[in-house]
Amino acid sequence: MLERSEWYDIARDTNWTPSYVSQEELFPPEMGDPYGIPTEEWETFDEPYKVAYREYVNIQREKDSAAYSVKAALARSKFYDQADEGWASVLKLHYGAVALTEYQACQFQARMSRFGPSPAMRNMSVYGMLDELRHTQLQLFFPHELVHLDRQYDWAHQAQHSKNWAVLGGRHAMDDIMMTRDAITSSVMVSFAFETALTNLQMIGLSTDAANMGDHTFANLITSIQSDEARHAQLGTPTIEIMIRNGRKKEAQQAMDIALWRVWRLFSITVGIPMDYYIPLEQRHMSFKEFMHEWVINQWERQVQDLGLERPWYWDIFLLDIDNHHHCQQGGIWSWRPTVWWNPPGAVGPAEREWLEEKYPGWNESYGSYWDVITNNLLQGHEEKTHPQCIPIICNMCQIPISHRPGPEWGARAYQREYGERRYNFCTEVCRWIFDTDPERYKDHETIVDRMYSGEIDPPTLENVLTYMGIGVISEGGRDGHDYGWVEGFRAQAAE
Ligand code: MN
Ligand code: MN
Repeated sequence: MLERSEWYDIARDTNWTPSYVSQEELFPPEMGDPYGIPTEEWETFDEPYKVAYREYVNIQREKDSAAYSVKAALARSKFYDQADEGWASVLKLHYGAVALTEYQACQFQARMSRFGPSPAMRNMSVYGMLDELRHTQLQLFFPHELVHLDRQYDWAHQAQHSKNWAVLGGRHAMDDIMMTRDAITSSVMVSFAFETALTNLQMIGLSTDAANMGDHTFANLITSIQSDEARHAQLGTPTIEIMIRNGRKKEAQQAMDIALWRVWRLFSITVGIPMDYYIPLEQRHMSFKEFMHEWVINQWERQVQDLGLERPWYWDIFLLDIDNHHHCQQGGIWSWRPTVWWNPPGAVGPAEREWLEEKYPGWNESYGSYWDVITNNLLQGHEEKTHPQCIPIICNMCQIPISHRPGPEWGARAYQREYGERRYNFCTEVCRWIFDTDPERYKDHETIVDRMYSGEIDPPTLENVLTYMGIGVISEGGRDGHDYGWVEGFRAQAAE
């Protein structure tokens, strides 16, 4: 009968003094707080968003029924039967990469619920755990009805159980920041660097595009997830405040710097490529770069400084990467399209190239030079020449092919490190720096290309490599989503 504000603080601040076991046994530092910050300090943890279980359940039930009823209402609309394959690729990429990653996030929240040193953190992360579970289920259920249209949608369930190269990359990053760190470090890494900085990007950018595409089912789904994320992401800021107040600014800074980079490398692929290539030109509402500058650079940077942290040391490299990384990977993923579970359109016809040049000045003389060769080969009927005969060098940290701006500037190089018995290759100074923060943690992981040489994929023929990655097993691999239709705009010009 009391107002929430009258009982909330007492209820959620309950902290027991253990008598049968030691505090250390109950909250092992390697699972909870390895920084030795006193319990009284953690008891000051004040989450910005407060909710009681009864309210939480009511709100979540409403969100669920909104998302499911939009889906049910539109089930007969034939939208997905007729959707542009570029948009279908956005969905397939999203579901495969994200659905079970959400389930991993559920385990991350559960670790805070059990081992978090602050009672308020434990309480709040229980809601976070239920959030992640709820929207994992949404993202497994929604694509399930599409499997009969195309087996590639089955990667929503299967991707994380596969050894597809793109999955190895995502899993390496998530294992690093979310699955194998203590409650405090992973809260900085996930709640603050991942969910606060970059989840907005995925959710707000993609839901606007989905609405423009007329995919109201997906737009609603994404908005529903975002409302969960926006709340539980707030776990990160009190954690960082307490760390800074207790002399652990350096550790908080390093955790944030590692995580932002790791998640950025993935997001620029899962969001940057869709926004600038897969979504049909008429439906694009913003370039990826415009989006990054408005939603991440401006907003998140201010939050970082308000909290008392610095922006990451690699800020200039990050800004340069916003101009380049996803353009490189669009070229790479398209060229190695049989290795992925979606059908990436090249989508660089005359009108698209004009748009890219406007949004990314210099695109034509750099990335355009790569696509010129491909376009000419296709116009001359040499489709076979558009499939590379070599394997790329993979970064030993992000697990993504090492690449950079082509053309006159030619930014690509491998950053190397000798450690123990071997040499490691990295895409950037940042991925190498992450390795250097803890080489023993990272040294034994093998990239997909390492596995071709180590004998794990034996013999390393194209067919064996594809099978190893789940291609032809879970579904067929990718093809050009528009059956090369985008080169037609150049045919008259080429004939001249
Ligand atoms: Mn989530
Ligand atoms: Mn989350």
